[in-house]
Amino acid sequence: MPDNQLQIGKATLSLAMGDITRQEVDAIVNAANTTLMGGGGVDGAIHRAGGPAILQECKQIRETSGRCQTGCAVITGGGNLKARYVIHAVGPIWHGGNANEATLLAGVYSHSLKLAAEAKVSSVAFPSISTGAYGFPVVLASAIALTTVKEFLRTESTVNDVRFLLFDNQTYDAYVNALKKIDT
Ligand code: ADP
Repeated sequence: MPDNQLQIGKATLSLAMGDITRQEVDAIVNAANTTLMGGGGVDGAIHRAGGPAILQECKQIRETSGRCQTGCAVITGGGNLKARYVIHAVGPIWHGGNANEATLLAGVYSHSLKLAAEAKVSSVAFPSISTGAYGFPVVLASAIALTTVKEFLRTESTVNDVRFLLFDNQTYDAYVNALKKIDT
């Protein structure tokens, strides 16, 4: 088994370097913010690549349900992306570690996977939620992300291919190290 992959029953959890907007998967996850109105980083990239239909749907969700609280996620179509769906997930801002950040981060991964399973998709790509502008330390975030996904993949659902699309070497290396640790 390569160091960037883990088999959990019939499901695969894998790590790759790359741009999540180009992934050929059923759903990609966006590291959104509570406004759901787009932003910088991966959020900006997804809205740029996906076109205005995604923002339009986000606006409708805002009108009917208000802001998306930290730890929550909502699902829209994928607009011009190859992915059929975008799951907009609001990770926690890092405040030093005593503001429930770890639980909120685990919750946002669980919530996203629950939406993916409800949409009956098989493949999902995640970015490294909260470790960019939100400042969550990547060593801790990667351990939380992989543990949460691994636990989810042990349960029965349509989701059988979860990939992390990591944008820089340092983040990729942190996830590879975290995967080694949860494998043993
Ligand atoms: P957050 O606000 O949740 O920290 P950011 O978008 O600032 O979200 O960063 C999250 C991670 O996404 C960072 O590691 C950043 O480098 C990465 N990222 C930025 N653009 C892309 C992209 N197109 N594909 C995948 N990851 C990306």
